[in-house]
Amino acid sequence: MNLTLQILGAASAMPISDMNPSAQALRVHGRLLLIDCGEGTQQQMRRQHLSFLKVKAVFISHIHGDHIFGIFGVLSTMAMYGRTEALDLFAPKSFAPILKFYLSYFSEGMNYEINFHPLDCKQPELVYELRGVPVYAFPLRHKIDCFGYRFGDWYAYCSDTAPFPELAGWLQGVRTIYHETTYLREWADKAGKYYHSTTDDAARCARDAGAKHLLIGHYTSRVRDYGRFASECREIFPQTTAVRDGDVFEID
Ligand SMILES: [Zn+2]
Ligand SMILES: [Zn+2]
Repeated sequence: MNLTLQILGAASAMPISDMNPSAQALRVHGRLLLIDCGEGTQQQMRRQHLSFLKVKAVFISHIHGDHIFGIFGVLSTMAMYGRTEALDLFAPKSFAPILKFYLSYFSEGMNYEINFHPLDCKQPELVYELRGVPVYAFPLRHKIDCFGYRFGDWYAYCSDTAPFPELAGWLQGVRTIYHETTYLREWADKAGKYYHSTTDDAARCARDAGAKHLLIGHYTSRVRDYGRFASECREIFPQTTAVRDGDVFEID
């Protein structure tokens, strides 16, 4: 079985002209799972011909704006399309008051339920399953509560995180790993200060996890030549691709 991954946004928090902040769509048997929803997610879904009504669940890593500012437009547009099917939404428990606030102002005309699943796990935990693809959430190490997601043995999404020793073990058996590379290796001090990763950190994680393919993104806006991130990673893990908005990957 193949899963299709579409990159809706590969940038980090500072706005840049040709890339949106973090958002991805994973296609499983014709149904969609959204992974993070940075600003502009719904326009990116339009550009990439993704149906709002086929989204079964949304997986939010953490409540920094570059990962959630797009969810509100997505939820509203689903209502405008007449969605009636319930939507599963996974996020840290800190997302609860934000969702409540949104619904208190914008739920008029919404004819579907949002099943909110607050995350609070300390190690990988099975949280969802879609047509033979189990989804596990696992904690990352960021300034605030942050979670990665493992979609069976196909794909794992590691959002904003500092490196930590348990992560590669939790990712054993996953063929394609996305791992943030906010910084080039020369900025290791900044990565440590802000709980992010360098190219070296991401590449070591993929190598130690035994992955087949590493996808990287969430680049600092200070570097516009994204090939530099990939080049550094490839010194440690050759099968590295620096993703861009609009990229599509078949994952088997
Ligand atoms: Zn971020
Ligand atoms: Zn963050």
